[in-house]
Amino acid sequence: MSLRILVTGGAGFLGSNLCDRLLSDGHEVVCMDNLFTGRKVNIEHHFQNPKFEFIRHDVVDPFKVEVDQIYNLACPASPVHYRYNAIKTIKTSVMGMINCLGLAKRVNARILQASTSEVYGDPKVHPQSEDYWGHVNPIGPRSCYDEGKRCAETLCFDYHRQNDVDIRIVRIFNTYGPRMHPDDGRVVSNFIGQALRGDDLTVHGDGRQTRSFCYVSDLIEGMVRMMNQDHVTGPLNLGNPGECTIRELARHIIDLTETSSEIVHCELPMDDPRQRRPNVDLAEKFLDNWRPLVPLVEGLQKTIRHFRETLGIGAGIQV
Ligand code: NAD
Ligand code: UDP
Repeated sequence: MSLRILVTGGAGFLGSNLCDRLLSDGHEVVCMDNLFTGRKVNIEHHFQNPKFEFIRHDVVDPFKVEVDQIYNLACPASPVHYRYNAIKTIKTSVMGMINCLGLAKRVNARILQASTSEVYGDPKVHPQSEDYWGHVNPIGPRSCYDEGKRCAETLCFDYHRQNDVDIRIVRIFNTYGPRMHPDDGRVVSNFIGQALRGDDLTVHGDGRQTRSFCYVSDLIEGMVRMMNQDHVTGPLNLGNPGECTIRELARHIIDLTETSSEIVHCELPMDDPRQRRPNVDLAEKFLDNWRPLVPLVEGLQKTIRHFRETLGIGAGIQV
């Protein structure tokens, strides 16, 4: 069945990959974005498609569209970008969520919120499963993002309990792949850009902090399955349980790009989580045996290829 689907944040990294997937599944897509970190280049290949519509709009301001489903992804995701205007970031999460939930209520649409592993903060429980309430500093430099996303989850459940809105929540763990903004500031795009330019890779702290990196196609598959199942509201973790240190990630990227770049250490940002790995048992159980399929090295190779093409640079050679 062909549906009409709103994707907020649809011109960003994940949002544009999601728009591609929904259109190829035969749906109509309304992509809403204020282009803060998103880019038209991510979606311009759909501009001639009558099933695709782009609306430049800020989710903080109310909006009306007739849709069957809403994916709410609008929010800067890189620490560099979400800290740039912290007040705007928390407004985007909270007021954007209220506007999306109000719309879902009015037009009777199902809504999926793109939440985050950051709701677990600097976790004291490892790996993180959905019943862990987290360890978040409410007043630190990351709080505008973490607490905004936590409040957005609260809003989803309050609209669900009070107004019967049909909600889905996924907690996304670090995801990477083609269409990440080259100046995004997140670790995978930073390291690949640095390696391809021949610059040294900036490892924060001793590099022993861990993350678990999920390739974008695996994540999008999980999001779509979550939206279209009728068993659970979530929150459900989506991510790749393969955990690695940031130093190991840097080594992989140096090897795969065959760069002459080296590792340099710089200051660890405040409240940077020490370890992160999803428990994805619930996703596997409720999303038809969903599990990530793309191994880290393969995903990095695809991402490096994309960066080479879009940046027009080779290993250590600036053209
Ligand atoms: P991104 O920065 O590429 O995408 C965010 C998009 O939202 C951009 O297109 C941006 O322009 C848009 N946006 C920001 N503020 C807006 C506003 N006020 N109104 C309208 N549009 C606005 O980042 P991404 O990695 O694609 O993240 C997408 C979503 O997934 C975010 O909500 C993020 O919190 C969540 N998420 C991502 C990851 C990840 O690892 N990529 C992990 C956890 C959660
Ligand atoms: N990081 C790093 N060098 C960089 C960018 C990030 O060592 O150039 C580290 C960062 O301090 C964190 C990890 O890599 O420990 C993941 O950072 P990212 O910003 O990608 O995501 P998040 O911290 O939100 O998980």
